[in-house]
Amino acid sequence: MTTSPSPASPFWGTEVGPSGAPHHAPDIAAVAIAHGDGIGPEIMDAALRVLDAAYARLDLRPIDLGQSVYEAGHAAGITPDAWDTIRSADALLKAPITTPQGGGYKSLNVTLRKTLGLFANVRPCRSLSPFVPTRFPGMDVVVVRENEEDTYAGIEHRQTQEVTQCLKLITRPGSERIVRYAFDYARTHGRGKVTCFVKDNIMKLTDGLFHDAFKRIAEEYPDIESDSRIIDIGAAELADSPERFDVIVTPNLYGDIVSDIAAQLTGSVGLGGSANIGEHVSMFEAIHGSAPDLAGLGVANPSGLLLAAVQMLVHVGQPDAAGRVHNAWLRTLEDGVHTPDIANPDTTRHKVGTAAFADAVIANLGNEPIHLNRVAYHSDEARGQTRAAAPAAPHVEEKKLVGIDVFLDWDEHDRSPEALGRLLEPLAGPELKLKMITNRGVKVFPGGFPETFCTDHWRCRFVPTETETISRYDVLKLLHRLAHHGLDFIKTEHLYTFDGKPGYSLGQGE
Ligand code: NAD
Repeated sequence: MTTSPSPASPFWGTEVGPSGAPHHAPDIAAVAIAHGDGIGPEIMDAALRVLDAAYARLDLRPIDLGQSVYEAGHAAGITPDAWDTIRSADALLKAPITTPQGGGYKSLNVTLRKTLGLFANVRPCRSLSPFVPTRFPGMDVVVVRENEEDTYAGIEHRQTQEVTQCLKLITRPGSERIVRYAFDYARTHGRGKVTCFVKDNIMKLTDGLFHDAFKRIAEEYPDIESDSRIIDIGAAELADSPERFDVIVTPNLYGDIVSDIAAQLTGSVGLGGSANIGEHVSMFEAIHGSAPDLAGLGVANPSGLLLAAVQMLVHVGQPDAAGRVHNAWLRTLEDGVHTPDIANPDTTRHKVGTAAFADAVIANLGNEPIHLNRVAYHSDEARGQTRAAAPAAPHVEEKKLVGIDVFLDWDEHDRSPEALGRLLEPLAGPELKLKMITNRGVKVFPGGFPETFCTDHWRCRFVPTETETISRYDVLKLLHRLAHHGLDFIKTEHLYTFDGKPGYSLGQGE
């Protein structure tokens, strides 16, 4: 066992290692290190000691993130200096931080993901039965979550007294990039199948775009099996029989939920690590939070952060060190050396704290598991999985403006759709006519049902009277007439066709 490194030591690594350690000199990776809050410093110290003993070749660059930085007046929990350090590094290894309660603070994780372009969130979830009890001993799933788009774009508006909205943005380049990443990951990690989770039976355009990208790109990987699930039944199947799945790729929100379900099924969220992959720098962290209830007690499980560090070592091109740490960790669990969160009557022999657990992993470096599957990482699993955005579509589709949806805040005449329809019909012309009104997506005019509940938020669709297309001036003239009559239009959405195909959802009855 080696002596503990100072977390602030600028460089570790040696060309002379224990059995199995590299004797050549692979690149040294620059890694920004954030010790975080709560249990963060304890588990980070434990993880760094293991990495040092495993001869990981890292140039460590400590930074401050989190609570103290928020409290010093930085609303996003990060200083300009820390940004510089992260951006000049290959990776950020981040312990969990505590997000202060109350308004005015931004989520540091969301800020890091978006600012650094961390487009892929990769969370391996593997059972460790019988050493960590789980109902699913055969589970070995990797969830690849799109990390930047979807409702997490954070574009929200309150539009009326009763209605708020959140924009769900799904882009073609974003979808293609995450799907391609998932297939590349499967190929380089020796996995046989990628499953797409979407809800394109309801969200035909947004989730439909993601699903189309999946089907198209799957054809480029004939060696990898591919299939798809509607997210609801997919999540149910995952919770019931996770051994059916291998790699799952899914948009941001579904991925957020599904990856937590998958991690929990392995027996403990405390064991999960995750990678946030970007083209320039990538971030690695445990999936759990700062566990303030355990802070300072020396009992937290450092495994989640350690497994995140294993992902990081693979990513920065040190698969040998990654394999040594991972196998030693598996052997330690098999030895029955367990922190309290995973201690169990059947397989625990030594219930230990954070530091003693790290000592046991270090003592096992060079050993491999006997019962659990040993891991072997290869150099092709390393750098190079962060392909640039997909090239532009070869064909630019013909885009035509064929109508407009005007959203109104309207709360008069007992919210009678008939009354609103009668008001709008004469204001539509001469270029346009009112085609329909919907409320919360349900058609209420013409021919609505009195049973339908209506809010103060109305979508009013106008289409051309005679021509195939309309002009932007037709739109302005319509809005001018609506404004003149005191109607509060809160937003408009243009209706486009692309090569004649509607780029908007059709109302009921169309
Ligand atoms: P949490 O994950 O910190 O704790 C949930 C439960 O799991 C607690 O009972 C805790 O004791 C236990 N636990 C967590 N990690 C453990 C470990 N390594 N070993 C043993 N037990 C462990 O979730 P929370 O309580 O909801 O959040 C606490 C704080 O963490 C909040 O401020 C939250 O914003 C923050 N958080 C940060 C991150 C991050 O930085 N990535 C992620 C999630 C939550």
